Amino acid sequence: MSTEQLDQLPSFSESGLAPAILRAVSEAGYETPSPIQAQSIPPLLEGRDLLGQAQTGTGKTAAFSLPLLSRLDGRKSGTQLLVLAPTRELAIQVSEAMQTYARHLKDFHILPIYGGQSMSIQLRALKRQPQVVVGTPGRILDHIRRGTLKLDQLSALVLDEADEMLRMGFIDDVETILQETPETRQVALFSATMPGPIHRVAQRYLKDPVDVRIKSKTSTVDTINQRYWQVTGLHKLDALTRILEIEDFDGMIIFVRTKNATVELAEKLEARGYASSALNGDMNQALREKTIERMKKGQIDILIATDVAARGLDIERMSHVVNYDIPYDTESYVHRIGRTGRAGRKGEAILFVSPREKRMLMAIEKATRQTISKMQLPSSEEIADRRVMQFKEQLSETIESQDLSFFETLITQYQQEHNADPLEVAAAIAFLLQKSRPLLPVKHVRERPERTGRDNDKHSAPDSRGKKLRETREPRQARAARPHITEAGMQTYRVELGHEQQIEPKHLVGAIANEAGIDSQFIGRITIHEDHSLIDLPEGMPRDVFQHLRKTWVNNHQMNISLIEDLESVVSTDDSARSFKRKSGSGPKRFDKSKSHKKSVQDRSK
Ligand code: AMP
Repeated sequence: MSTEQLDQLPSFSESGLAPAILRAVSEAGYETPSPIQAQSIPPLLEGRDLLGQAQTGTGKTAAFSLPLLSRLDGRKSGTQLLVLAPTRELAIQVSEAMQTYARHLKDFHILPIYGGQSMSIQLRALKRQPQVVVGTPGRILDHIRRGTLKLDQLSALVLDEADEMLRMGFIDDVETILQETPETRQVALFSATMPGPIHRVAQRYLKDPVDVRIKSKTSTVDTINQRYWQVTGLHKLDALTRILEIEDFDGMIIFVRTKNATVELAEKLEARGYASSALNGDMNQALREKTIERMKKGQIDILIATDVAARGLDIERMSHVVNYDIPYDTESYVHRIGRTGRAGRKGEAILFVSPREKRMLMAIEKATRQTISKMQLPSSEEIADRRVMQFKEQLSETIESQDLSFFETLITQYQQEHNADPLEVAAAIAFLLQKSRPLLPVKHVRERPERTGRDNDKHSAPDSRGKKLRETREPRQARAARPHITEAGMQTYRVELGHEQQIEPKHLVGAIANEAGIDSQFIGRITIHEDHSLIDLPEGMPRDVFQHLRKTWVNNHQMNISLIEDLESVVSTDDSARSFKRKSGSGPKRFDKSKSHKKSVQDRSK
């Protein structure tokens, strides 16, 4: 693609957004506005009302946030912008996104408000007069009625996921709130679908709204086999690594949303031994062309690209497209997967879909009139089989194509000097060869016995009760592939904290022991990775304890704990993983319901 073509695409810089907002957008790594953003930003900046038909994943949050934040008046006090969302999760998510976009605005305050949170916290925060409030309808109405949220300075109101608010029975509250706002306010209503009652609200309260809709074009792409993976407990990067292991690919293009993500993912894949390169709109034309040329020549096998940079890309050897981040609209999807199946060849398209993005998956299926089949990630056995097969193929190829006379002499010499069995010699060489990428990568790798004595103590850390945690020391490369094996009677949980957050086992043990009331002797193996950790806890954790732990803070970060359903499938792709086998007597077989954890959770929530 030429620079001129890139220049013709809609850009943020010419959209009229406030400079402080533009700066934050650029720092977030966004290259171009998504279709809904390109259509919504100009009218919202002009102060017009808007009716947008868009679902999660289309970039709708930024579509209303960027222009409406740009329009905030720094001289005014009081709440100027109110966003209504159906759920507490969405309210928090929107509020976090807006906070990011507003990070360079001076004295900016935003407040998420939702049911279930303590009133006194909300009242205190409301006294600070946040310019933006994001909340669920019930609680917002509550504050309006109490007089603790005043809307006389309100200049804009957003109804996000209006159809969900209707489905959840909030539509009357929404109408009441609309009636409480000044006549002069601007309204933006976003909804994935437009059922009658939502349409009526739009007709009644929106003034001459701009209608924004994402077209869904149909196109057929029948030479391309389409599959999707439902993002579950496993990290997307881990899932991708497994897919790379098992898929027979020649060239692959992986789509992500931001230019920052192209660079990050390329680096991570390079570190895992895949010849990869980023392709994004920040690279000048010469560099982009050079990268594409390297792909064509087979000097690299994987491109990690944004939609912008991959526009019109035509490389015959591209056998696979992976949608690591789901596209914003069906058209982009069709364009993305069209990068494979070139020149009448067959192609493979894989889409990662998080539970919240299910609607987009359905929209894509509808627009392409094709079903996208659900794929399972390869099991550790399949990965092992594949590696063994590749190893055998490599052996045959080497025997056929290489002059091995020097090595034959060398091995004969060794055999004579040591009176060695030729099979044993061959096995030793095979062992050396596969050390950095074990043929039996996951649970087949036997753990080394733990060291004892002083050397061991050097690497140990005390747990909350002063006990020593022993790190199972292994050579770095062996550590890279070592699995986290769930101990008997335990279940393995993932915590979104790792080396990056300076997490040590004692932090996790302390937090879990204190917050869940689990005696620390019942906390099992802990493996710390770069950006997450795995921890074994007794089977059958009660739901309330689990919910409480999810929100528990450790080292200033929330644990976000989740149960790993399929640990066997977790291949460590992280060569910084460190495993700590805890000296827990014989682990309990079940979560001990008689223990004090339940009580202590209740006590704390009083
Ligand atoms: P939403 O549809 O608002 O839930 O946004 C989906 C995701 O797209 C979020 O993770 C945003 O950070 C991201 N996003 C929104 N706009 C852009 C953009 N123009 N470029 C890249 N990523 C974006």
